[in-house]
Amino acid sequence: MIKLERISKSFGRNQVLNQIDLTVAKGEVVVILGPSGSGKTTLLRCVNYLEKPSGGAISIGDFKLDCSHARKKDIHQLRQKTAMVFQQYNLFRHKTALENVMEGLLIVKKLPKEQAREKSKALLEKVGLGGKLDAYPSQLSGGQQQRVGIARALALEPEVILFDEPTSALDPELVGEVLAVIRKIAKEGITMIVVTHEMGFARDVANHVVFMDGGVIVEEGTPAEVFNHPREERTKQFLKRIT
Ligand code: ADP
Repeated sequence: MIKLERISKSFGRNQVLNQIDLTVAKGEVVVILGPSGSGKTTLLRCVNYLEKPSGGAISIGDFKLDCSHARKKDIHQLRQKTAMVFQQYNLFRHKTALENVMEGLLIVKKLPKEQAREKSKALLEKVGLGGKLDAYPSQLSGGQQQRVGIARALALEPEVILFDEPTSALDPELVGEVLAVIRKIAKEGITMIVVTHEMGFARDVANHVVFMDGGVIVEEGTPAEVFNHPREERTKQFLKRIT
């Protein structure tokens, strides 16, 4: 249901993504692994046009965007179908947890305020923050802030949620609670693409693992294939270093 075709991206002369093809089925959890600088975050950001690809095409369901002729309207439509969970949470500092989740429902989905409030409350309860509705980000731990970020992404009911190293800014003792929430929503069949260094999580939760290096997909397969029987030397070296 999501198809990336020949996605390329250069920053000046530095080609960071080289003709990436990737297909993600509905309800699938795809984990992208790879060394730092391999292009993982850039690829994720291209999927919702936080970075403009230099070329290629992005399809979500029946919608297709050709990156060389993308119009504002197409980019807007693409963004309606995707939501991003950021490494640094990116919450509004002057809004409460509840207001942070409501924001997209009011502005993007144009829901009436009462409906937006009820839906946001339910989502915050779902991520275990029913008792923190009126807390400001500064009053929340990193793990709690990231769970607000996840509730905010869920609120938009996107076709896919893009997770950009969602636990890498967290103290180690807070990683588990965030991964538990991601695991829970993965089980509900929400399509996700996750960039992470959490190998245990990738093994457990991913349906499909993609290993990137140097702006290309070096290898992909089920977690068992990629972790237990990597075919490519670069994958083997990477896994040896980090596990
Ligand atoms: P990863 O997520 O795998 O660590 P990134 O996608 O963040 O890799 O980065 C891939 C390469 O793109 C790196 O060489 C990085 O320096 C470069 N890069 C990323 N964003 C920018 C940018 N906004 N401007 C210039 N270069 C960038």
